[in-house]
Amino acid sequence: MKTLKVYPEAEGTRTGYTILYTCPSCMTKSTIVNSSPRDHFKNARIVSCRHCRIRVTVLTPGRGT
Ligand SMILES: [Zn+2]
Repeated sequence: MKTLKVYPEAEGTRTGYTILYTCPSCMTKSTIVNSSPRDHFKNARIVSCRHCRIRVTVLTPGRGT
């Protein structure tokens, strides 16, 4: 039996090499700084909120062409 954990999702916005997102639990705005272009263009990533420490799936779909 497989248990796949699903975290709440937040829509991320790319700005330069950082991703902006708002935590769906505590509404804190956070940024993710990407260390490599390959990370930067992933469609989703799991991060922990600094404020409330829940895990969030941040979606950053596409590259905007
Ligand atoms: Zn939070």
